[in-house]
Amino acid sequence: MKFSVLNETHIRNLKSMVAPDRISTGESVLDLHAKDQSHHTPSRPEVVIWPVEPTEVADILKYANDKLLPVTGWGSGSSLEGNPIPVQKGIVLDFSRMNRILDIREEDFQADVQPGVVYQDLNEKLRHSGLFFPPDPGARATLGGMIANNASGTRTIYYGSTKDYVLRLSVALANGEIIELGTRASKTSSGYDLIRLFVGSEGTLGIVVGATVRLVGLPVEFSAAVVTFPSIDAAGKTVFEIMRAGLNPAALELVGPECIELMNKEENLNLNLCPTIFIEFHGTTTNQLTEVLEMAAEICNARGCLEFRPGVGRAERDRIFKARHALGEMIVRNHSDCGILIMDVAVPITAYSELITTINAELEGTHLVSYYISHAGNGNVHLNIAGKKDDRQEWDRIHHIAERLVQKTLDLGGTATGEHGIGLGKRKFMAAEHGKSLDWMKQIKALFDPKGVLNPGKIFP
Ligand SMILES: Cc1cc2nc3c(=O)[nH]c(=O)nc-3n(C[C@H](O)[C@H](O)[C@H](O)COP(=O)(O)OP(=O)(O)OC[C@H]3O[C@@H](n4cnc5c(N)ncnc54)[C@H](O)[C@@H]3O)c2cc1C
Repeated sequence: MKFSVLNETHIRNLKSMVAPDRISTGESVLDLHAKDQSHHTPSRPEVVIWPVEPTEVADILKYANDKLLPVTGWGSGSSLEGNPIPVQKGIVLDFSRMNRILDIREEDFQADVQPGVVYQDLNEKLRHSGLFFPPDPGARATLGGMIANNASGTRTIYYGSTKDYVLRLSVALANGEIIELGTRASKTSSGYDLIRLFVGSEGTLGIVVGATVRLVGLPVEFSAAVVTFPSIDAAGKTVFEIMRAGLNPAALELVGPECIELMNKEENLNLNLCPTIFIEFHGTTTNQLTEVLEMAAEICNARGCLEFRPGVGRAERDRIFKARHALGEMIVRNHSDCGILIMDVAVPITAYSELITTINAELEGTHLVSYYISHAGNGNVHLNIAGKKDDRQEWDRIHHIAERLVQKTLDLGGTATGEHGIGLGKRKFMAAEHGKSLDWMKQIKALFDPKGVLNPGKIFP
């Protein structure tokens, strides 16, 4: 599709739809909306608009659709795969001012939110009610961006991902129509599940203008442990054993020796430089959690762990997980002259060790510095590879390795992305992963967005 270039008439017409302080073509504003947190090449939009009401979004979409102007939604821009980069320029809709928590119905475990609500702000507001919204991608992400990417995080193994928390959606379609999907009931088997179609669609089928999300009770007690293993195989099998034993970990994270080296340096952990598991448990009493930790220790010892450091209580959990949560920032800080490619793939947990072994084999002898960090309970691996900013050859090598590893993931029955979405970086794997069903996805896209104005250049190869 050939899109129109935004001209002065378009700008004048768009300005008539929103207050003057909520539309900008300023250079620095365009720059701020040209890149997310990924390594992908920036691309500036032609105009940024901050809507505050669903009807404004609908009006802008209708206009853009008529005039063939691309429209890309923007939450916090924290994506890691180029998902909100406006590669075809056009209009960016920034939802940071459409950020009201409209209603909290504690006894129904539900909240109605606008798309620009940041999930940490929702949880802060919920703190005194003993409830929370569990998906936790870590960055200051918005509900709209999390819904669009089906974000998850360290606690997905226990609580699930964003798709498990969306009960209702208001979606503005490309033609300017607003549709309401879902129900306030906690279960339904009524009709096609259109909510699941929009969750994870990266703003390519419609723009989320409101959502009802499910909440759960805050855990009362916490415990955690950090455990080192002599081999990735022993660590991987332990992940399976802990889950099979029904211990229901709230987080089961596995990181490689290079990560431990950084953590030791920055947090004085003094851990063995080995594959290491961080486990977290949620429960109702410290006695219960002490027992669970003892059982976890037995399993880890039986698998030959080198060290098992447990802690019971919120403060102990925070202490043990502090370094794990800071790991992403540590990697960036320790490679200030580099860009970091963050690969996100997921495999069945039985294939986990084989994937890590392949990663190590691919990287051996390359002199590239890399770190694997994984939500191992979900078989979700992030490989962070540092590459010197302007070294084209090095980046070619990194991309080549990442490509081979995604292919290996697919061969192992996995997926090209566990949580970051397709965005720009994973488009080339869509045919290999989805085969003929990719054609059905294209037909769904054509049905909702026949002119292709919504977040063009994403998801499809
Ligand atoms: C340090 C760090 C750690 C991270 N850790 C994780 C992690 O553990 N797990 C994880 O899943 N992700 C993680 N992420 C990635 C990122 O935080 C998530 O993908 C998040 O969901 C993006 O939300 P956002 O508000 O920043 O959306 P953006 O990046 O602004 O946009 C994301 C996508 O949503 C679309 N969009 C935005 N608003 C709307 C809307 N209202 N309607 C329709 N489409 C819309 C955009 O066009 C884009 O396609 C991490 C990022 C960083 C920087």
